[in-house]
Amino acid sequence: RLELGSQLRQALKKECELELWFQPQMDATNNRLVGAEALIRWNHPQEGLIFPDRFLPVAEDAGLISTLDYWVLESACCRLARWQSLGYAPIVLAVNITQPTFISGGLVERLKALLGYYRLDPQWLELEITETAIISDKLRALHCLRQFKAMGVKVALDDFGTGYSSLDTLHSFPFDKIKIDKSFLLRAEDSPQALAIVRTVLALGRSLSIPVLAEGVENERQLRILQSEGCDEAQGYYFGHPAPAPSLALPKAVNS
Ligand code: C2E
Ligand code: MG
Ligand code: MG
Repeated sequence: RLELGSQLRQALKKECELELWFQPQMDATNNRLVGAEALIRWNHPQEGLIFPDRFLPVAEDAGLISTLDYWVLESACCRLARWQSLGYAPIVLAVNITQPTFISGGLVERLKALLGYYRLDPQWLELEITETAIISDKLRALHCLRQFKAMGVKVALDDFGTGYSSLDTLHSFPFDKIKIDKSFLLRAEDSPQALAIVRTVLALGRSLSIPVLAEGVENERQLRILQSEGCDEAQGYYFGHPAPAPSLALPKAVNS
């Protein structure tokens, strides 16, 4: 683990082993691509492809998590700018941000600098945070969230249902999207309880006027359930696995 930590430090310096993959996010009503989530991968020279579940805890232990978040953010902004320069219609690019980075004052400044440098319209960038990330210091998190919103950047609540799932959080924090954790949809076909939770979160989003995205859509039956319940957006293997940028079927802009 220690060795992996020092190798990750090197990888972040060399900037050639880390890579962003992208997974489509669809409008659930018409199956059109409306966004993508950036997901980090590490092409380790000896071990091959390593997934974030393995190296994010290592990054945390080694004090590298914010460096990694910033690397992801800059790569995502660079990618958005590239897509736009190639004449694709804009889509929302979602980036996962960890708690230490989200509540550090530095993220606001870094975001401003990146948006300016890449000449990006902030409405196409979305930060994904989990409830666990805001619960430890709610006041500070709310202050930061308001600053992102004031800049025009969107903020989504990731993995909803697995953390504290506090209704107070939904009430106090002006999220632009709720992402229902994939574990519920993956069990919904066999478990009436899981299905009831999916339905309830969809109804909650509707009542609060917060769009809901369902994660983990793997087949058409699950999509039908979501559509019949009025889900706004969907993401999962049914639409596409995370993959390097060229695999994403981006729509061309109408006037290009
Ligand atoms: P997440 O943000 O909830 O991302 C969704 C995870 O679900 C991804 O795993 C994705 O590959 C997986 N997934 C998507 N659709 C399906 C499906 O239909 N079925 C199933 N079973 N799984 C699906 P991945 O890429 O391994 O990422 C795991 C977690 O690591 C992410 O969960 C996120 O918390 C974290 N992560 C990934 N990339 C980054 C990053 O760039 N920065 C930070 N800070 N965290 C990241
Ligand atoms: Mg996410
Ligand atoms: Mg998630």
